Amino acid sequence: MSWEIYFRENGIRVTVGRISILNIIEASEKGLSAENIYDECKKQNNNLNLSTVYRTLELLEEKDVIKKISIDGPSLYILKRENHKHILECDVCHKCVEIPCPMEEIEEAIKAKVGFSLTQHKLELNGICDQCKKNK
Ligand SMILES: [Zn+2]
Ligand SMILES: [Zn+2]
Repeated sequence: MSWEIYFRENGIRVTVGRISILNIIEASEKGLSAENIYDECKKQNNNLNLSTVYRTLELLEEKDVIKKISIDGPSLYILKRENHKHILECDVCHKCVEIPCPMEEIEEAIKAKVGFSLTQHKLELNGICDQCKKNK
């Protein structure tokens, strides 16, 4: 889908800078820092200054288009994916709740540290729900 259409549908003003920043993030295999994005803009002859890049990233994060990930070092930005869910099951009453996948940050950390891209992961999560804790 083109970003222009996405922006209009979501009430975000379309600017060349916003679109090119998103295209840069989208084209990258790994998370990018604001500096990386700024450098890439320069390479594409897009004269955004660094503070515009920061402001744009902040806005896009606020609008839920991208996600900021903080590992060690500068924060990295990635596109927000359709986040799949994981099931968390209560040990006592076996009630299940869905939680958003917590793996994105871990994936970025793995890429940064050992250069692997995860292709899949399995998470088994157990716990005790609020209700059962109270009934103890
Ligand atoms: Zn329970
Ligand atoms: Zn997951």
